[in-house]
Amino acid sequence: MILVVNSGSSSIKFSLYKNEDNKIVKITQGIAEQIKVKGKVSISYNQNKYEYDIDLPNHKIAIETILTKLDDLNIIENIADIKGVGYRTVHGGSISKSSLIDDSVLNKLNESSKLAPLHNPPALLVIEKFREFLPNAKHVACFDTAFHQTMPKINYIYPVNYDWYKNYGVRKYGFHGISFNYINKKYEEIVGKTKTNTIVCHLGNGASLCSTKNGKSFDTTMGLTPLAGIMMGTRCGDIDPSIINFMASTLKKDVAQINDMLNNESGLLGVSKVSSDIRYIEDGYRNGDELCLLAIELYTQKIANFIIQMANQQEGKVDAIIFTAGIGENSATIRKKVIDKLFLLNVKLDELKNEASYSDYLKISSDNSGVEIYKIRTNEEIMICQDVISFL
Ligand code: AMP
Repeated sequence: MILVVNSGSSSIKFSLYKNEDNKIVKITQGIAEQIKVKGKVSISYNQNKYEYDIDLPNHKIAIETILTKLDDLNIIENIADIKGVGYRTVHGGSISKSSLIDDSVLNKLNESSKLAPLHNPPALLVIEKFREFLPNAKHVACFDTAFHQTMPKINYIYPVNYDWYKNYGVRKYGFHGISFNYINKKYEEIVGKTKTNTIVCHLGNGASLCSTKNGKSFDTTMGLTPLAGIMMGTRCGDIDPSIINFMASTLKKDVAQINDMLNNESGLLGVSKVSSDIRYIEDGYRNGDELCLLAIELYTQKIANFIIQMANQQEGKVDAIIFTAGIGENSATIRKKVIDKLFLLNVKLDELKNEASYSDYLKISSDNSGVEIYKIRTNEEIMICQDVISFL
């Protein structure tokens, strides 16, 4: 059995898979949340949902509780049956592929913690604890940054003092790589081609675009950190960097506080003043709310601008534009508004297919579109699971 773990500062999401005759089957999934606050564990198994209110004062107890509950519910007979654990790890610095966790990988993760202070420290803590509980399993770190290590220098160097890159690693890393990798493989499987040029819009609460050239990441919108690029649920995306200094002195706050506001109070939430969730903003927009209209127009314009830039980098030879993640998979309004803003590309949306329900994926461009358009459901967990299996 393989356990896939995605941890945050107060939660651990997990799913358990088995590999039968080279077919990966999901057995169960769940979450331990409100760690350090209160504590709750939920596990879905065999169409049932089991929920427990349990004190979870730290990550160690949360992990212990998850393993005990899996045992109590007879989902696993023996925790030693878990042969591999895969961890979604946000920042792997310059590591280019999923890696078996040893001291050198842990050191690199520690180094990358300063670039992802919200994400890497809890992941490290969780890795440490699972290694204690499952000493004989293979532990594999899968990085959101790894897929983008193929980007050419011209796309990852910032126009600042070159010493910042050489001495401090200040460069574009990019994120959501596990999702982009999955989507690209899926698209190539659907169309039966390899080495494709795609522009993938991963539009979730966090959101970024990736352009692939010959099947490899060529450019992406997030940067040194996941704050850059398009506007997101609560993050601002690209802005004039001087705003930070200006607002710090205006509001008498320090840079860290302004950074926090740009991460948590900006983007769709900041502009709409309603919510970071596009569903509520779309409701406001339909009811004529001016700021909701502005938020949606701004959001879709930013995405369209990057698509055009990426198409230019691909010398116009774009095979497909693909929408994925919470908003990309589910919001027909956002997809249509983005496509409607792509004047320099020969793209034609099939509006019925854009609105249609689907299971894994659906082509939503019309037959006379010069570029294919798809909505594809992402599956980061299965990518992590496959990577772990490759180490077993
Ligand atoms: P993710 O980070 O991929 O889980 O995406 C979360 C976001 O997706 C939410 O904040 C919503 O804005 C959006 N979302 C989720 N479900 C739907 C839906 N059914 N329709 C429209 N947007 C959705």
